[in-house]
Amino acid sequence: MKNGAVENQSSSLINLYSLTFADLKEFCLSIGEKPYRATQIMKWLYHKGARSIDEMTDISKKTREKLKGITTLSLPEVIMDHLSEDGTRKWLIRLDSGNSIEMVYIPEDERGTLCVSSQVGCALDCSFCATGKQGFNRNLAVEEIIGQLMIAKLLLNDFEEIDNFTPRKVTNIVFMGMGEPLLNYRNVVAAMQIMLDDYGFGLSKRRVTLSTSGVVPALYRLKEDIDVALAISLHAPYNSLRDELVPINQKYPIEELLAACRNYIEGSNKKITWEYVLLRDINDRDEDAHALARLIRNIPGKVNLIPFNPFDGVDYETTKREQIDRFRTILMSYGLVVMTRKTRGDDVAAACGQLAGKVKDRTKRTGQMGEREA
Ligand code: SAH
Ligand code: SF4
Repeated sequence: MKNGAVENQSSSLINLYSLTFADLKEFCLSIGEKPYRATQIMKWLYHKGARSIDEMTDISKKTREKLKGITTLSLPEVIMDHLSEDGTRKWLIRLDSGNSIEMVYIPEDERGTLCVSSQVGCALDCSFCATGKQGFNRNLAVEEIIGQLMIAKLLLNDFEEIDNFTPRKVTNIVFMGMGEPLLNYRNVVAAMQIMLDDYGFGLSKRRVTLSTSGVVPALYRLKEDIDVALAISLHAPYNSLRDELVPINQKYPIEELLAACRNYIEGSNKKITWEYVLLRDINDRDEDAHALARLIRNIPGKVNLIPFNPFDGVDYETTKREQIDRFRTILMSYGLVVMTRKTRGDDVAAACGQLAGKVKDRTKRTGQMGEREA
């Protein structure tokens, strides 16, 4: 089976959350079932939130028994659930004995955004990022990425039947938790297919955002494989500074990254979201704003200014409000659309770059940087 039909090693049962629609059809055929079973199963899993095969009542008892013998619907375990004063919710999710990840839900007036992780830790070691400081342990399997969404929707009661006017609680997904999604390419793309699939979560392609620090070859590949929203962690307008803040820049410098971004949106009306963490006296001066604006003004996009979220053991400081506003005004004077991200959930350390989870083995950094995974 192509896209990560990961078998549960201890029991060799197929976890149904690991299968895209195409995988599931193939799986149904392989067990002597008609492909339309795949449609039924997907709807039960992702439209109704069924947690057992027995709930799938439009499937015959005999077939259900067969499925029960060879599949599982297991989800990672929630070990902590924090509600922040501003409504942001953070969960600590245990994947296996040594690894846990964090997931954040951010409710707003018109939407609810779920911030998911793609790896345990991250190998790219950006100088201002708590996840990077932990090192890298492993990629998440498809069922662990889809598992995050399932957990959130189940805990938020988001599988309930609603009328056409009531919005779902999870309307948007951003890959802005732990890890570099493009270094877990195959599993992230398969999970995004399930998120977009009408028989899956049915999310619009504008509401699933992949955030990357710039794994250039994978960006070209992504254009061939899936159409989602793209956020680029730029953080500096010059290579000298970006080399320091986002070390993968040493391998794929700004010009190459921008060319890959242009290629991704070419032929569509998509826009790039440029993420820029403001670090006091490092990348937040007026001249940096001018340089940034000149760099990106000809590429359709919008800028997301992110106040730096401090964490233990790092020396950077957060830019003062006044300078954040100045920076924003300069960018806007070039005609750019600019938002300043509100810092949400910082009383429970749920803000961007504060996601730390727990990483078993912090030594596996080498070999990951820029690696073109399967
Ligand atoms: N690896 C991907 C996605 C995860 S990081 C990437 O780098 O894009 C998600 C976002 O959080 C990125 O824009 C990242 O630069 C930002 N971030 C990391 N550490 C941060 C911090 N301490 N304060 C604010 N934002 C941070
Ligand atoms: Fe990894 Fe993104 Fe953190 Fe950089 S900012 S270390 S790429 S998670």
